[in-house]
Amino acid sequence: MTESLAENLTCIDCGAAHPLTYQLECRACRGLLELRYDVARMRSAGPSLLAGAGLWRYASVLPLADPAHRVTLGEGGTPLLDCPRLARELGVRRLLLKFDGTNPTGTVKDRSSATAVGAALRFGYRATSVVSSGNAGSSIAAYSSRAGLRSLIFAYERASAPKLLHMAATTTDLIIYKGVYDDLIKTWDRLVEEHLFFDCGATRNAYKQEGKKTLAYEIAEQTAWTAPDVVVAPVAVGETFIATARGFREMREAGWITRAPLMVAAQARRANAVVRAFREGSAITPLKIGYTVAEGLAAGDPGRKGDWVLRLLREGKGLAGDAEDEEILEMQRRLARVEGVWAGPTGVAALAVLARLLADKQLDREQTICVIISETGLKTEGEPPSRTGVGFDFDSLRRLVVERLA
Ligand SMILES: [Zn+2]
Repeated sequence: MTESLAENLTCIDCGAAHPLTYQLECRACRGLLELRYDVARMRSAGPSLLAGAGLWRYASVLPLADPAHRVTLGEGGTPLLDCPRLARELGVRRLLLKFDGTNPTGTVKDRSSATAVGAALRFGYRATSVVSSGNAGSSIAAYSSRAGLRSLIFAYERASAPKLLHMAATTTDLIIYKGVYDDLIKTWDRLVEEHLFFDCGATRNAYKQEGKKTLAYEIAEQTAWTAPDVVVAPVAVGETFIATARGFREMREAGWITRAPLMVAAQARRANAVVRAFREGSAITPLKIGYTVAEGLAAGDPGRKGDWVLRLLREGKGLAGDAEDEEILEMQRRLARVEGVWAGPTGVAALAVLARLLADKQLDREQTICVIISETGLKTEGEPPSRTGVGFDFDSLRRLVVERLA
């Protein structure tokens, strides 16, 4: 059994350390909390602490000490794909895609669902809940079912049909909410205080966010502990970005890698509150947003995590960029055609942002750039190609094949 080196929950604002209980904010200042580990042990043991496969290979740097709470559907261990053809097209020396669409429910959320639902077990909850644009809902539902817990899933009314089907299939209770994520999340977050369910939302729960940190550990291990120069991560409220950045920082502090990558925050143009604030050098102004094809990025008010992303960007001299819906859809088709990777619009948004930043000469083309592709394309809703079938005899079939391959 791999032990957990988690030591405490530390406030990101005042630095106060709190015990490893179910606590969502600092008792002193109401700041957000993050998990801290025994870095001295990490330093002395090195990566030999890691054992087994998948997400729980990194159990020593995750917060669940009891193996009985390590819920799994086989998440993590996703491929880091070297993409030389697309790299040439975009004009960058080396492009790596961390394709998280191969996770059990097709999304990066499975990493945080594993630790969220694991924490729900650890703290004795019988039900979980989340407000979702689609991916988080089916992921939390699936992991809750796997752990024998009830789930109450609040789903975006414009979630794609495949995402709705998946949520309906895996949850014990599916509720469709009116409006966008921002319209429900504040009310739901207030209800969390009553402890009727375990908080599987992205706003505050440090245990949940922690699962996504394994993205950084996998990327570092898959590059033989060198780590790319740049990592581009999607930002809705910022969970993936914050967790990935912190994973790299932890490994640097423990001496597992010598430098942390430069982090780039990627948003959809139609939900770009963090990017705007970064460009303007100002605080975040919440946006009233409508629809974007990148459903998973449809948050106009990233809340306190948005401030945290901004702080990390400014401290780490990072970058932020956005892409129009049309650019995202174009990149979805291009990625499938050029590299065979079929990702959803939410999943390719970060890549569309990278293309834009390279075109605008905001990034060094001689670097190794890694982009997190956060979801599969198999849950995309759209018109299928024509279903008009053609009948063949041998001659007509041969003619067609010769013509097409000419
Ligand atoms: Zn505090």
